This record gives sequence, structure tokens and C-alpha cells, in this order.
Amino acid sequence: MMEEKLENWVILLDCTKSMSNEDFQPNRFQTALSGLKLFFENKYKAFQKIRASIIIFSTKVSIISEFTDDIPSLISLIRLISKKKFKKQYIPEGSSFIMDNALSKAIDILAQQIQNISGFKNCILLISDNDNIEISEKNQDKIMGLKISLNIITFSQEKKIIVENHHFKFQHFNTKQAFLDGMKNLASLDKKEKNKAQNFSELIEQKKKKHDFMEEIALSLRNPSSEELIKFKKKSNKIHCQICSSKISPIKKYSLYNTGRLCSHCGTPMHLHCAGLWALKSSEHKNLFRCPYCYSLLKIPVAILNGLNINTKKKESLVSKKLYVKMITIKPEKLKQKTQDCLKCFNPIRAPHSQNVFQCSNCKAYFHKKCLEEMYKIDKKCLNCGGLIV
Ligand SMILES: [Zn+2]
Ligand SMILES: [Zn+2]
Ligand SMILES: [Zn+2]
Ligand SMILES: [Zn+2]
Repeated sequence: MMEEKLENWVILLDCTKSMSNEDFQPNRFQTALSGLKLFFENKYKAFQKIRASIIIFSTKVSIISEFTDDIPSLISLIRLISKKKFKKQYIPEGSSFIMDNALSKAIDILAQQIQNISGFKNCILLISDNDNIEISEKNQDKIMGLKISLNIITFSQEKKIIVENHHFKFQHFNTKQAFLDGMKNLASLDKKEKNKAQNFSELIEQKKKKHDFMEEIALSLRNPSSEELIKFKKKSNKIHCQICSSKISPIKKYSLYNTGRLCSHCGTPMHLHCAGLWALKSSEHKNLFRCPYCYSLLKIPVAILNGLNINTKKKESLVSKKLYVKMITIKPEKLKQKTQDCLKCFNPIRAPHSQNVFQCSNCKAYFHKKCLEEMYKIDKKCLNCGGLIV
């Protein structure tokens, strides 16, 4: 599949004092650079579409190349660095603290990429002469939650015992040639590696339930500003939803004035329910989807998806048409963190709200008290999922 060939790589290169050691000729740092050069050359030869960024860490963490898909230039840059004399950095040996900081930086860079561009496999390659890799719980969770593939390659002459059950792809080499071959092999994932990767994704599945970092980095859909609302209301306007291509949503016939929301990144308008359907069809998990225009990772309220799901199941007679729901009182303080939209009037329920708010026990939609009373007068049904209010 094409998608497998799109990759983002953040390279983390150890540049601490011990890397000037000359047991690997001419020294460890230059050996690492030669390996890196081989890695990129082989990736490039295989016509794999990759984008990469290089970070070095010593006493501090510095980005030496921002994300680029110009791999030949990146290779020239590596050649250029390796010609310079290795500057001895003064840092206590075996400081895993700075390594973890560098890892945080790499994760942040990738998180930004994941937020803006879809379809890439996201990888980190850590090259070090230090086998004592300690990754903080926080970084481990983020790597799992964002489905980042972490490859650690270490080299030193001592034979090290590699920790079993390591969560990440971890390889140690004790000769220069073995290291260079290892870097070359990494550029072309073989079938064996793919099997390993599958076990890795099982692990991710387990952790994902606990920490949903994809959801954390996704942007919320934006409510229109008052000026935008006026534009939405004007009959003469040509603005339409970028998903259904019309002004009136095919689902429940809402207008943009009612349920129009915008991509927080590029301002593309869409109906809330059209975005919901888009999210249900998308390969991103749960309530996440990509903006149809700029591909930013967006999220929509889970209640919208619940409502859409229940309604399709009802149509296919998978659930009983007579569904009973309760409206649960939510104390205003409980809404403190987020601004929720009332799914009757589609206006935000801003916290702290003076009046109690109600939530449907079935689809988890929130409603203003006034809006619930109106629904009760009409047909005693939850407007979002259609359940009969008891
Ligand atoms: Zn629409
Ligand atoms: Zn957008
Ligand atoms: Zn309302
Ligand atoms: Zn409901």
C-alpha cells in the first residue's frame, strides 16, 4: 500500500562527551553520522517518501535540521557536520535525563506533524553509545498514545545485556561494521520486523485506552463568531458546508446558521452532523477526523456520534424503536472545564452556568433547561438520539 511508504522521522543523535571516544574510528560521533548517512541514502534509493528532522543532544537539546523532504540536502548536511571536528561537550557520563528531554522534543515535533498531516507513519530514531536508556513514564505513554514507532540503536564495544520485554525496537551493536549494517537494515523494514511491529501495536492498543493523546492534540471545531453567524444567516451568501456541499445539512435539515462549525485551523465551514458522519467514516479513531480542506486533526463531541450511531441502528432495526432515556441533572460546576454545545439550540453552554444543565443518559448530549422543556412540550424525545424521555 502507498500509505506505508509515507514516513516522518525524527533523528535523535547523542552528542555527549563519550561520543568523542575513538574506539570506533575515527570516533563514535562520526561513526553515528556515517550510519545516519547510510540510513538516508538507502531510504532515498528505495523511493520511500520520507520527511526528516535531526536533533542533537549534549548539555542541551538543539534542532540542527527542521522537517524537510529534501533528503539529498539532508545527506549533504550530515557530510558537512562530520567534516567538522567533534567538539567535546562537558556533561556527566550517562546522563539519561537530557536524553529524555531530547525525546520529549522529538515527540512534540511529531505531535505537530500528526496534527497537521495525515497518512504518515511517525518514527523516532535514537542513536547513542549509552545503553542505559531510561524513558520516563510520561514519554512512554505519549509514544504509545500517538502510535509513534521508537527505534533505539546503541553501539559500544562492551557486550551489553539487552533488557527483555522492552516496549521499543531496541538494537545494540558492538562493532562499527555491525552498526553500519544495522542502520542500512533499518532503512528497509523486512517481514520479520513487520511481525514485531504487530506485537508492538497490540501493546499500543492496551495503553491507548488509558491515554488518548491523539484526542489531546486534536483541535476542537470552532463555533462561528458573531460576524460569521451574520454571514451564515444571509440568504444571498454562497457559503456552504464543505462536506455535504450544501447550505442545509442532509441530516435533520439543519442550516449552517444552526449547526455550522469551522475548522479551527483554516476556517473551513461544515455542519456539525456532517462532520460527525465524516468522523464515523474516517480511519482516525473515535471522534477524530481530518479537515476536508487542510487535513488538520479535528475532534467533535462524542454525543453527536452517539446520536448518529443510534439513529442509523434504528433505521436498520438493530435497536428497538422505542428507546427510553433519562435526563440527568448536571451541576453547573461540573461543566467548568469545557464549553459544551446544547444539542437543541446549538448554542454553547458556558460554564459557570447559573442554571442546571441536563444530559441524556443514552447519547450523553447536553441541553439547557429551557431547551429540555421545549423538547418535552414537542414530543418528549431527546432531539439528539430520539429516545423517549421518562
Ligand atoms: Zn453539511
Ligand atoms: Zn481545516
Ligand atoms: Zn439550548
Ligand atoms: Zn439522547
